[in-house]
Amino acid sequence: MSPSTLTFLGTGDSIGVPRVYCDCEVCTEARSTGVNRRYRSSALLTGDEGQRLLIDCGPDWLDQMRLMELRQLDHALITHAHHDHIAGLPEWADACRWTGLKGNVYAPADVFVTVRSQYPWLERHLRFHNNDAGCRFGEWSIFPTPVNHGRNGMSYAYVFEKTGYRWAYCSDAILLSEQQKEPLKRLDLLVLGTNYYKENAEPGSRSVYDMTEGVQLMEELLPGRVVFTHMSHGVDGRNRYELPERVSLAFHGLSISLL
Ligand SMILES: [Zn+2]
Ligand SMILES: [Zn+2]
Repeated sequence: MSPSTLTFLGTGDSIGVPRVYCDCEVCTEARSTGVNRRYRSSALLTGDEGQRLLIDCGPDWLDQMRLMELRQLDHALITHAHHDHIAGLPEWADACRWTGLKGNVYAPADVFVTVRSQYPWLERHLRFHNNDAGCRFGEWSIFPTPVNHGRNGMSYAYVFEKTGYRWAYCSDAILLSEQQKEPLKRLDLLVLGTNYYKENAEPGSRSVYDMTEGVQLMEELLPGRVVFTHMSHGVDGRNRYELPERVSLAFHGLSISLL
């Protein structure tokens, strides 16, 4: 047995980096050396017996599988039914069709309502499991917890617990209510989506935190460690942003031991 790990397969916002139309410094660098190359946000939890759980299955899923040298996937958890988090499901379902091995998708019932309406054929090849009341994956107990996603409605964060370690994945959220903050308090690790370092638009007109707001949130949630993900071309991974010591920026392939 080896400790569970979390590996970032995508750390981009809904569009990813580089933007196809954009010549900014970050997008230009992303096209060459690629420090800022960001696939749409997704992560892979590897349990202590080697079992794998994908968190979100976005439009870059095929590239993410290839880069991880993965040819098969059995389990995925979905945070919400936005394109950047579910658009890889049809490709996964197609792979299941050819291998004859049904994949398992875990999400709250309301997420499946949207997924079914968008891709009505998926259940031929993928099994949908409602996880409103939580689910287990190896040694982890996992439960979804609703979070405000601003102009985009609602999303879910996931809290993962085992003896001696609690962490959460919260890629798409802003303006959390006091009640929504409660399950995210005093985690060992918080993975939080932050599209920019600082956004000028009013929080009420946006859908994801920025890093300065993420730092304020930390002061209330008191996590042991924070990793920012879901970043746009407004974030340059080569910069040293003014951030507390226990905060770091995710990048493609970053792997964290969960212990
Ligand atoms: Zn997103
Ligand atoms: Zn979203």
